[in-house]
Amino acid sequence: PKNANGNYEVTLIPGDGIGPEISKSVERIFSAAQVPIEWESVDVTPILRDGKTVIPDEALNSILRTKIALKGPLATPIGKGHVSLNLTLRRTFNLYANVRPCKSVPGFATNYDNVDTVLIRENTEGEYSGIEHEVVNGVMQSIKLITRPASERVARFAFAHAIATGRNHVTVVHKANIMKLSDGLFLQACQEVAREFPQVEFDEILLDRACLQIVQDPSHYRNTVMVMPNLYGDILSDMCAGLIGGLGLTPSGNIGRDASIFESVHGTGPDIAGLDKANPTALLLSSCMMLRHMNLNSFADRIEDAALKTIAEGKAITADLGGKASNTQFTDAIIAKL
Ligand code: ATP
Ligand code: MG
Repeated sequence: PKNANGNYEVTLIPGDGIGPEISKSVERIFSAAQVPIEWESVDVTPILRDGKTVIPDEALNSILRTKIALKGPLATPIGKGHVSLNLTLRRTFNLYANVRPCKSVPGFATNYDNVDTVLIRENTEGEYSGIEHEVVNGVMQSIKLITRPASERVARFAFAHAIATGRNHVTVVHKANIMKLSDGLFLQACQEVAREFPQVEFDEILLDRACLQIVQDPSHYRNTVMVMPNLYGDILSDMCAGLIGGLGLTPSGNIGRDASIFESVHGTGPDIAGLDKANPTALLLSSCMMLRHMNLNSFADRIEDAALKTIAEGKAITADLGGKASNTQFTDAIIAKL
């Protein structure tokens, strides 16, 4: 929603470790680009209530109100009773689709220079349903839960995303040859949804074949949206991040029923936290995804363009990209380009 000043309110979760530093960069760049949003900064350090990890009410209410958040990396506290905070956020806001674009950064050399695909991962069930138990001593069972509503929902989102981003192809990645019922249902849901979108090409591929093909020739997946169950998406999206130069450059968005949360996929970088060395690109590109989700495309294009040009020039890039600049210097260079 817009506030009285005509700006959109967005919840900002700066996060832990390098989170506050890279969040600060995004704030500076947004204000230089005069993006019509106002940040509401909240702390999501989990609290224990009745033995369960919960997000503080203030943070929860902010996201429920704004319906949109940008999130830095979070440290999951180790110890009894704590589940991963990311999992908690996913469950709390019904974040059903995780979107990870993987696109080569022009001018930043890797072994691959022609990657341009989008991975969409079902984010609520599958192997992550959290149902595990001991059958007898020495025998463990973990239940992979696949339901028709969740499969249809993510499939429909994948097709809509393909259309919205000008991609004309959706590929479903599965192992229905082995998991005939569970992956079979996911595949069937995708096939049925595909009929609602005759203008988008559709095909299916086995997970192992997809892995082989994407490292041999990623151009095969140009202009494609790949949609898949939870665990496959987890693995394949990190693999694709590797193709374009690592986690420092990969954005991500979690689209949900009650809110959408955009985040960098890397961790808290404890080894460089507080040293002004972190690369803010992943969070910045996530914030551009967020702007497009809010239909503020022209701001997203301008910011992304300035960031990618700064990287391509190579004069003021951070150490992880092979440069010598601090986060502040890199951010200054992007702002100068705006
Ligand atoms: P966490 O437990 O939060 O995942 P981690 O120890 O696994 O932390 P990561 O944050 O996942 O560390 O990072 C792995 C390596 O990549 C570290 O050396 C870290 O400094 C580096 N790294 C991660 N993100 C960035 C970034 N944005 N800019 C520069 N280096 C980064
Ligand atoms: Mg990590």
